[in-house]
Parts: sequence; structure tokens; C-alpha cells
Amino acid sequence: MTVGPPLTEVELVHTWDSALGRPGPGRGLLLLGRADADRLPVGEVTALLLAAAAGWTGGRVAATVDCRVCPEHLEVTLTVADLLAAAPERTDPDRTAGPFTLTWRGHLLTLRLPTTADLAGAARAGDAAAAERWLFDACLLDADPPLADPSAALPAVSAAMADRDPLGVVAVSLTCPSCGGTTEALLDVPAWAWQAADARVRRLLDEVHRLARAYGWSEAEVLALGPHRRAAYLERVP
Ligand SMILES: [Zn+2]
Repeated sequence: MTVGPPLTEVELVHTWDSALGRPGPGRGLLLLGRADADRLPVGEVTALLLAAAAGWTGGRVAATVDCRVCPEHLEVTLTVADLLAAAPERTDPDRTAGPFTLTWRGHLLTLRLPTTADLAGAARAGDAAAAERWLFDACLLDADPPLADPSAALPAVSAAMADRDPLGVVAVSLTCPSCGGTTEALLDVPAWAWQAADARVRRLLDEVHRLARAYGWSEAEVLALGPHRRAAYLERVP
């Protein structure tokens, strides 16, 4: 996996501006600035987004999840470092790039890892079972001999995919402080990354606004200052 340099502040502002004109669910992926982002394995996209957004969030991933049992809202706080440490093989391109094989009950299955484009397709398939089957069909490239009952192979295939792409699903288990119930939640990393970028850009624009009004500088001039000089000037603005 290649991690490009992080977006500069100027690039981030421009990416944010063009992403706002796109449908919501795909905006997080635009932060990667890669045309192939939706065709990369899901876990690779997750790792790239975590690395990109870490700097805007102090390295923390925070989200709110509804308790499955009572009306309580549960806070999830994780660190980017912990999440990335859970998938050390993510930096090994051989682990996620290209098809892989799995032998299941005498069948040689040739599979590929799901991409975010696959997840979007699966989401249109209907309920959870239909979505899972849709993903399986999309990612099963070959079965030798052919499978009589593909759904029987689903658990083994899911486990093999999770092993190869540990960040393909980021799941957290939370205990509710009010009712003691357990809630399993999936973390939507692209949505989190987009929220982090959105908050970062809105803070930047606020800084541009204050300095432009005080000194008459343009947006480009204020952003070109960089964070430390900008902070020093902001301290001098009443
Ligand atoms: Zn509860």
C-alpha cells in the first residue's frame, strides 16, 4: 500500500469545496485524491483515511452509537494508532492486492477482497443477507469444481477475507452504562474522515475570515502562511 503525502491545507480546502457538490456517502473517499479509491480493498481505504484524518483530529476517532437496548447514546473513542496497529499487514501489498485462493471442502475458490464500490452495490441489494450474498458473488472469481450451495461457503470466505484485510470491517463492542446491554457497532470510517475534514476546513475558513478582515489579505495569502504564523497573527487580532 502506498500512502501519499497528506493533503496540504490549500488542497484540503479545494477538495472539501468540490466534494460538497457530490452526494454525501462518497465524500470521504474524495479526501484520498485517488481516482481508483472506490476500487481499492475496503481495509486499505480505511487505513489511508485514518492516516489522512489523524492530523485533523489529534489522532482520535470519536463517534456516537445508539444503545440497542435503551435510549442511551454511547460514545466511542478510539485512537488511530490502535486501529492501525490492529492491522499490521496492511502495509504489505501482497496481502491485499490481487486475487487469492481458499480451499473449502475440496473446492478451490479464487476470490478478491471487497472494495467500497462493492459495498455500495451490496447496499442496494436489499437486506443484510442479500447484501452478503451480493458481495460473495461479486468477489468469487472462480470455484473449481463449481459450488452447489454457495451460501454454505459464506462463513469460511468471510473469515478468510477478514484475515487478509483486518480493517475491512471496523467493529466495536460497547457496554451501556445505563442498562448494561452490549451493542456491537460498525464504524463508518469514510463518514468519520469526512466529518473531521469538514470541521478542519470550517475552522480554517474562520481563520481566513478573521485575518482577511484585519489585514486585507486574500484567502490564498492567509492559507500560504501555514499554521504557526497564522496562529501568531490571530493572537494579535482583537
Ligand atoms: Zn442502554
